[in-house]
Amino acid sequence: MKILTIESTCDETAAAVITEDLEVLSSVVASQDELHQRFAGVVPEIAARAHLERCLPVIDEAVRKADIQLADIDAVAVANMPGLAGSLLVGVTAAKTLAWLLGKPLIGINHLQGHIYACQVAFKKPIFPCIGLIISGGHSTIYHCKSPFDFEPLGGTIDDAAGESFDKVASMLGLPYPGGPSLSKCALNGDPKAYAFPRPFLNDTSRLDFSFSGLKTAVRYEIAGPGAVDFKSLEIDEQRKADIAASFEQAVVDCLVGKTMQAMKSTGIQRICVGGGVAANKRFRVALEEEVSAAGGELLIAPMHLCTDNAVLGAIAVEKIKAGQVDDLSLDALPGLIRN
Ligand code: ATP
Ligand code: MG
Ligand code: FE
Repeated sequence: MKILTIESTCDETAAAVITEDLEVLSSVVASQDELHQRFAGVVPEIAARAHLERCLPVIDEAVRKADIQLADIDAVAVANMPGLAGSLLVGVTAAKTLAWLLGKPLIGINHLQGHIYACQVAFKKPIFPCIGLIISGGHSTIYHCKSPFDFEPLGGTIDDAAGESFDKVASMLGLPYPGGPSLSKCALNGDPKAYAFPRPFLNDTSRLDFSFSGLKTAVRYEIAGPGAVDFKSLEIDEQRKADIAASFEQAVVDCLVGKTMQAMKSTGIQRICVGGGVAANKRFRVALEEEVSAAGGELLIAPMHLCTDNAVLGAIAVEKIKAGQVDDLSLDALPGLIRN
């Protein structure tokens, strides 16, 4: 069986062809980073229009790279939640049209569950039950993943996502978008202890939540104080910039690692699966690996290219097909965060 998966939840237009044995025959990702760069964040209307232009060429390329014909596709899967409304609509409409045209089953998948399932694809072994940590541009959530169909949220951010704070702090420091990779690079030359930025809830064992909004503000005050400021014309000494970047990164990493370890302890579940763009962060990967192995647990972090948005996330559709959970053409784009 060959499944065509389509991903358009945010600003990556992606398609992949995957077999029922989770073999990835092709995976194509068209990033829009250059379109959103000058705004230092994703502009929803621009994202939707770019998906429209790229969707069909990306699907064509995925089919071609898999060395098959469109008619060889046995099912069409699409991430229909959560995400930006206009972006989601493009992928969902393309998937519905193809499923109808080919007379094949249509499967809607939850993008966030797909981020965790990427670990099953990458490591080629069953991941359930596990603690699932999703850390991306739009989400920072901890789940108890009981099965491919049962993700119980244990906690998450009460304001900004971890990736969003990376992007905004990078922008304040005059670093290019997307901020995660550029900030991490800058932080390599910095002292992570130079500034004592806040780590909300870290010592509060009653909850498994994050808050990155105040951290962002603390960095802003450190850089420029509370008044109005034009960050673009702000000159920051290179060493100070690196120290702020490293101290900020360390604060985020401490919160993410601390709460993941707390979740492991409180649930007794020893397997941790991590997905989402921020999981590409080196300092985070090293720190979590150390803590999890010290606690005798098992850590599965998807490789870099499966951490950021891509259509291999749609592989979770295989589980739905096996369980007979197929959708019909009434499938809709659901932008809001449905936490399970
Ligand atoms: P969603 O939240 O719906 O999953 P998204 O497209 O914003 O959507 P991803 O593509 O998974 O999420 O992740 C993008 C985010 O990951 C950006 O905020 C980016 O800055 C961050 N990121 C990427 N690489 C790194 C890194 N090395 N360190 C920290 N953050 C990173
Ligand atoms: Mg993105
Ligand atoms: Fe994502």
